[in-house]
Amino acid sequence: MIENRHPIPRGAFHSFAQFSTAQLPILKHAFVLLLIAMGKILGVVNQKGGVGKTTTAINLAASLAIEGLKILLVDCDPQANASSGLGFQRDDNRHSIYDVLMGDASAEQVILPTQLELLWLLPGSKNLTGANLELAAASDRAGRLRQALLPVQASYDLVILDCPPALDLLTLNALVASNSLLVPMQAEYFALEGISELISNLERVRSAFNPTVTIEGVLLTMYDDRTNLAQQVTETLREYFRDRLYRTVIPRNVRLAEAPSHGKPVVLYDPRSKGTEAYFELAGEYLARNGIESPRAKQRKAAGALHPEKLDKSVRFWPYS
Ligand code: ATP
Ligand code: MG
Repeated sequence: MIENRHPIPRGAFHSFAQFSTAQLPILKHAFVLLLIAMGKILGVVNQKGGVGKTTTAINLAASLAIEGLKILLVDCDPQANASSGLGFQRDDNRHSIYDVLMGDASAEQVILPTQLELLWLLPGSKNLTGANLELAAASDRAGRLRQALLPVQASYDLVILDCPPALDLLTLNALVASNSLLVPMQAEYFALEGISELISNLERVRSAFNPTVTIEGVLLTMYDDRTNLAQQVTETLREYFRDRLYRTVIPRNVRLAEAPSHGKPVVLYDPRSKGTEAYFELAGEYLARNGIESPRAKQRKAAGALHPEKLDKSVRFWPYS
């Protein structure tokens, strides 16, 4: 007798039996539309520390919010740098994603407004270190974040997850919850070794929990194109990831490093800095790759149609338009 090892119970798809095969593409299309309507989840992930995950999560979130998209930033890291970087200093009495993962609060109860009208934060806390141990024996320990975000994700155009520098249970929860992943990395030799480890983990997550998660892109951060090494690593990455390597690169910029200590995304700290410009370019590339026209872009287009003489095609993003 052949043992049935299939993880999906027989009959799980009985409700599809009433549809003919001709209708299946329509169903697939409807399912994709449903996923889009639910709001996308983008994990910012790299198990290597200090590569610019939090800087990217905060400033991509802020740039997209200014472009008119409704964004939720989720701080999944016990260091809670995304929270402090948006001005929420450590507060042991404040609920955080820890309480949500442990089932003691709903995401909706914990989400906070930020200084930007269209950006919200689900804060982290140092308690998250404990979640790794406390969830180890829990049921559905890898799917807790995905479940917690389900009731709120449709309220946002994009949910961005800032991950810790580890391949731990918190990162696993983020990989399982994400539709796609953005991998920030520095152009240095050891970065390449970390990537292959991340890819093999991603394969395991795909086969066990989340078959559709993809790599949205690889982003070079703290980039200094004057060094030969940076150029060599970029070439190697381009060969490996091809068009998954974002054309936008984030240069080393002191304003990006200073902004978190003022509790602000760089666009509010220094709107005219190179860092602000680079993250708006990243937001533009993200939107273009995903075929999204932002509400701001629509407004600019409408204004350009009324006053074509004012439309400067060389400038794409606020605050330069
Ligand atoms: P961790 O793995 O610890 O969570 P991370 O990957 O989130 O780190 P960040 O905290 O974003 O990395 O960045 C690490 C340090 O580098 C921070 O001090 C940050 O301010 C600084 N930094 C990040 N990007 C840039 C940049 N483009 N130019 C200058 N400094 C930067
Ligand atoms: Mg970080």
